[in-house]
Amino acid sequence: MSALAFDTVGHVYEGVDREVRALEGLDLGVETGEPVSVIGPSGCGKSTMLLLAAGMLSPTTGSVLVNGEPVDGPRRTTALILQEYGLLPWKTVGHNAALGLEVRGVPAAERRALTARSLAQVGLVEFADAYPGELSGGMRQRLAVARALALDADLLLMDEPLSALDALTREDLQDLLLELWRRRGHTAVLVTHSIEEAVFLGRRVVVLSPRPGRVAEVVDNPEMGEPGFRQSPEFYARCSQLRAVLAEEGAVGRLAAEVMPR
Ligand code: ADP
Ligand code: MG
Repeated sequence: MSALAFDTVGHVYEGVDREVRALEGLDLGVETGEPVSVIGPSGCGKSTMLLLAAGMLSPTTGSVLVNGEPVDGPRRTTALILQEYGLLPWKTVGHNAALGLEVRGVPAAERRALTARSLAQVGLVEFADAYPGELSGGMRQRLAVARALALDADLLLMDEPLSALDALTREDLQDLLLELWRRRGHTAVLVTHSIEEAVFLGRRVVVLSPRPGRVAEVVDNPEMGEPGFRQSPEFYARCSQLRAVLAEEGAVGRLAAEVMPR
């Protein structure tokens, strides 16, 4: 049984005078403990996919399952990490890290213990009483990761979490995400625009078609997570392969952009 499954999923956004078909016929299974990267053209429904998995949207057609059960709302141990950090500037680092637990009604004592541990895991313990505005971009993103860790999430959904960071900070955070996955063994879905990031952090890389998004290709990446992978010939070969697949997809699909007048 897959930890996360999209079964012929379609999603249509209903606007005032038009509808947007974001996803159509999306089929994908992610195994328990498997890290998967998702890459595809802008507007092809990647964020929609994650919102469906997080239970923040319902599919128009088909079904989304977590551990075999249809997703019918947010779940205690599913965490969603966004690019814009989602931090509250008027709350301390410690409080921000505890937000997910607070929303889920976890008692204060337990919250304190869990957030202390998660801040330690991302190296922010001594900043617990600081405010997000006092942190660098990399540290703010660490805090967003800490919030997810505090939930002890078994399903980690990440929507381009590192795109706002400079290259070095970004690699640093990629190493952190890899290390956390090694330790926790959670199921992970990472949406990214970066070919290198997709290959570094995905045991499989899922390529989506232009909107309406569906799985265009899946690139297996069995060496992911091995020591020294980033510097290996396999890493470069896989990046080239993925680049070729994306070029092909971009060329075929442009015309499929769907804005249907009613
Ligand atoms: P991606 O993350 O791949 O860039 P999204 O999932 O954000 O794509 O969006 C897919 C498509 O659905 C886009 O065309 C986008 O404009 C549209 N869309 C996203 N959210 C909404 C919304 N709330 N209302 C209407 N259209 C939306
Ligand atoms: Mg998006």
